[in-house]
Amino acid sequence: MTQPLRIVLAKPRGFCAGVDRAIATVRQALAIHGAPLYVRHEVVHNRHVVQQLARAGVVFVDTLQEIPQGQVVVLSAHGVARDVHEEARARHLRVIDATCPLVTKVHLEVASYTRKGFAVVLIGHRGHVEVQGTMGHAEPPGQVHLISSVAEVASLAIDPAQPVAYATQTTLSVSETAMIVAALRHRFPQLRAPRRDDICYASENRQQAVRLLAKQVQLVLVIGSVNSSNTQRLVEIAQAEGCAARRIDGAEELACADLQGITTLGITAGASAPENLLQAVLAYLARWRSITICEMDGITETMTFALPRAVRSPESLCSHAAP
Ligand code: SF4
Repeated sequence: MTQPLRIVLAKPRGFCAGVDRAIATVRQALAIHGAPLYVRHEVVHNRHVVQQLARAGVVFVDTLQEIPQGQVVVLSAHGVARDVHEEARARHLRVIDATCPLVTKVHLEVASYTRKGFAVVLIGHRGHVEVQGTMGHAEPPGQVHLISSVAEVASLAIDPAQPVAYATQTTLSVSETAMIVAALRHRFPQLRAPRRDDICYASENRQQAVRLLAKQVQLVLVIGSVNSSNTQRLVEIAQAEGCAARRIDGAEELACADLQGITTLGITAGASAPENLLQAVLAYLARWRSITICEMDGITETMTFALPRAVRSPESLCSHAAP
């Protein structure tokens, strides 16, 4: 006789407004322009979503050079550097920009501060595609200093006479970022902050929810792909609360043996993981255990973003259209 399993679902969890918009943009672009539709980079960091879109006729590319001249290309939710837009223009590509508006906000801040002569310290993860895009909005290029830890603050090579501002990747841990910002303020007392936090509402809400969830269960499962930054933060935050936590892409990675001895299980999902993956995990668990499911109290998100004009009014899509 297997032990009953009480499952607590985090709230909020899963898709954010930026991911919803990016996927809807690709689907709409596919309906208007047909296959093959080129998308630069994974439109959102989720293996299942990417595979599903690929089956529908989307061709994911790493560089614009892989796209024949004159074709339509969708840019991913993570945003791109200015020179990617310039390259698209040079190749006469018709651009649909699915960059999340909250990433665009960070791009505009970096551009504005660097134009005014500030050195910008960007807090983010080296090599992450969003960070690459954000760094590419400095005007002139090269005025952005990337750090990812408190330890790196001391070694920042910034002229003491230069004013300093900071910006952050949108999906960082709120608490770790606060420590880095405190260290920056200590070294640069006149440090300028973004007018509104760069860490987005969706990251913040999901982090707060998983922190509460981790206090109530023996194990937290976080559904999301390995390259999803916000998913990885959720795992780390649950673990920092002293709870066992692991990331899975979906039910296929969940052997029932993983849950031996577990009677209370928390489940959440990163901002790029669709709800149907969570439902599949629940269905899988129900085959092995007698489960009860409840959802924790939490924030009801109402944020939505309009689709880019290039899919709302396809006639506006000329070579390299504005978002
Ligand atoms: S996680 Fe935040 S910044 Fe990223 S797409 Fe979602 S809402 Fe936009």
